[in-house]
Formats: sequence, structure tokens, C-alpha cells
Amino acid sequence: MASFVTHLEAAIDGTRLPHDQIQTLHQGRPLWVRYDLNAIREAITPGMIAWRPPTMWRYRELLPVPGDVEPVSIGESITPLLPAPQLAARFGLSHFWIKDESRLPTGSFKSRGLAMAVNMARQFGITRLAIPSAGNAGGAMAAYAARAGMEAYVFMPRDTPIVNQVECVLAGAKTFLVNGLITDCGQIVRAGADTMNWFDCSTLKEPYRIEGKKTMGLELAEQFEYSLPDFIVYPTGGGTGLIGMWKAFQELRALGWLKSDTMPQMISVQSDGCAPIARAFDAGERFAAPWVNAHTCASGLRVPAAVGDFMILDAIRESGGFALAVPEQRIASTMREASRLDGIALCPESAACVLAIEFLRADGRLAPNDRVVLFNTGSAAKYIETVPLNLQVLHDPKNVDFSALAR
Ligand SMILES: *Cc1c(COP(=O)(O)O)cnc(C)c1O
Repeated sequence: MASFVTHLEAAIDGTRLPHDQIQTLHQGRPLWVRYDLNAIREAITPGMIAWRPPTMWRYRELLPVPGDVEPVSIGESITPLLPAPQLAARFGLSHFWIKDESRLPTGSFKSRGLAMAVNMARQFGITRLAIPSAGNAGGAMAAYAARAGMEAYVFMPRDTPIVNQVECVLAGAKTFLVNGLITDCGQIVRAGADTMNWFDCSTLKEPYRIEGKKTMGLELAEQFEYSLPDFIVYPTGGGTGLIGMWKAFQELRALGWLKSDTMPQMISVQSDGCAPIARAFDAGERFAAPWVNAHTCASGLRVPAAVGDFMILDAIRESGGFALAVPEQRIASTMREASRLDGIALCPESAACVLAIEFLRADGRLAPNDRVVLFNTGSAAKYIETVPLNLQVLHDPKNVDFSALAR
């Protein structure tokens, strides 16, 4: 059985491209993967999917890896949709959940996209991959490349969080620190392509990462029994997550699987230290000008220029949602305050989403009865530089002043 993919489509102008050969960008812009949705509707039902093993591969018909190919996998399990009652109470929301993506391999939702990108590269016989990464993408690509027996090159800015460096090294990737920004790392990957003959796995420069991210939306729909929530609050860097989820909802609607035609409003959250999408949204623009001097402790949000900017902005606007920037200086403290409420450790990117929900509750754009989902996109434990500890040391373990511990 082959896949249900019919063709690739340039997002910028709709040009059709064949999917039986490796494709990258069209006019410098990303591609959509298109499927024969009528054939998929004939082939499966939501009820059939419900019986399959709880991994992202249960949506096989809606994914590009051919059905008779065993995917390279390190356990991409369905992530839980967790109620968070204390946080919900603080927001004054009655229906609030956290979808916890930190449970995925390599501790972030990046594994969804890179699992797909690496599997598809393997379909095309590619054996050497390269990626620029300022956070979780490098480790995810490195892990799947290792599993697939491919060579991985990762280029990271020098100030990339240490754990992200460690995971690349552990996965055996040739890992380099670059005296520059993520854009400089991307430039190295482009410049070396001819000499090194590697495949560029940069965000959205190959078409399949979106398809991996799409499974977040497919899972969410299943977890909500095909009645989608009212709002999805999602931290936006390169935008693949938001774009992928929105694509999932379109496909589910076209399949006729959704119980209602009302789509969730997509809320894109950035830090005011790097907010190109929020700025373009406010200005009513379809393309986002690069952000100068991007800085944020939320490394996943430190994307000064996104090649899929118009796809992000289109999705937000089509959904009736919005984009907003929250104060950088409050992200780290919010990470700490919010994590302790329900025992779900939130990464800084998702702490930014907590701040966004507070603002939207305060200005009334979110109402108490709205059904709201926040994505915890990665593992908080990776951000050891972000959480100041200042722990008290008990110097004399035999002589502890217990009455002082509770202070
Ligand atoms: C990459 C990343 C983001 C940004 O996601 P996009 O889908 O690329 O916009 C958010 N959070 C974490 C933890 C990330 O690693």
C-alpha cells in the first residue's frame, strides 16, 4: 500500500509539484502535502483509528510515510490532555487543559516533526542530514537520525541551552557551536550543502515536518471526541506546530469527521523580546519583517524570521484568533509559579502562554466558559539556565534547625 498523498502544493502560489521525488522550497517558500481525502474517507473511520496503538502512527492514512513501511520510531506516544484545576482557577476558566508534549521522545513536540522528516528522508535514500537549531530541534533530529542509521550535523548558536547540546552529542550528531545567531547557523547549512551533500532539515524547508506536527491536531481532535475546543494557546517560533494543527483541522473537516464546523481560535504567543508574528498580526501584514536583536529565555521562540510567516498569519486569521507578545521579563518567574500549581512543569515557551491567557482573561477576549487548551511544548527540565535556584545548603546534616525549614 502506498500513501494517500496526491501531490505537493506551493503555499505561496498553489503550484503543484510531484511528491515522488525530494522537494524543498518553491520560490523560497514552503510546500503543503496534499492527500486524496475522498479515498481516505473510504479507507478509515475515527472508530477504526481508536483501536490502533496509541502512537502518532495511528493516523497512518493521513501521513506521508507509505502504509507498508515500518516507520523509524522511538516511541512517539499520544500525549496526555491533562486538566489543570489550580491553574484554571487562577485564570477563572471552567474548562482548561494542558496538552503535555514534554512526554515525547527527546522531551519536546519537535520529535513529531523530525520523526516525519527523517522517515521521509529515508524514503528518498538520504543518508546525511543537517539542521540549524537554537533549542529542541537539533536533539530531535539527532535522535531519529541515529535510529535510522543516518549521519547528523547540528549547528547551534553558542548560547543554546546546555541540555540541548548534550542531547545532540549523546545521539552521536556532529555538533558545532556557532559564534552567531540561528540565522548564521542556517547560512552554514545552506553554504555547506554542495560540499557536504547533506539534506537541509531546517524548519519548513522540507515539506514533511508539518505533517508530523499535524498529529498534535489529530490527537487533540480525538481526545475531544471530534468536538474541537474553542481556543488553542500555542507558543510560536518557526510556526510548524500552529500551521500543522490548523492543517489537521482543515483535513478533519473535509473528511467530515468533526461534529461541528466551529473551528478553534488559534492564539499565537511570542515574547516581546522576539515577536515578529505578533507585530505583523497587529500591523495587518501577511509577511513578518525580521526581528532585530531577538532575545528570550524561551529558546523555541527565538526565531527572528520564519520562512512560513504567511502560513502562520493566514492560519491565525482564518481561525479568528490572534497573536500576542508577552513580557520577556515575566516568563521565567511565571514558569516557576505556574509549574508548581498543578505539578506539571511548564517550559518557558508555555509559561509565555500562561501570561497570554492572563492577559486575554483580563481584557475579556477569553470568557470563563470557553474551552481552552494550552500546549506544554517541551520539558522544563531542559532549561536549567532559566530557573534560578539559590537553594539553601544544610552544611551540618546532623544538626538541622527544622523549625527554620518552612520559612
Ligand atoms: C520549537 C519550539 C517552539 C516553537 O514551535 P514552532 O512550532 O516551531 O513555532 C515552542 N516550544 C518549544 C519547547 C520548542 O522547542
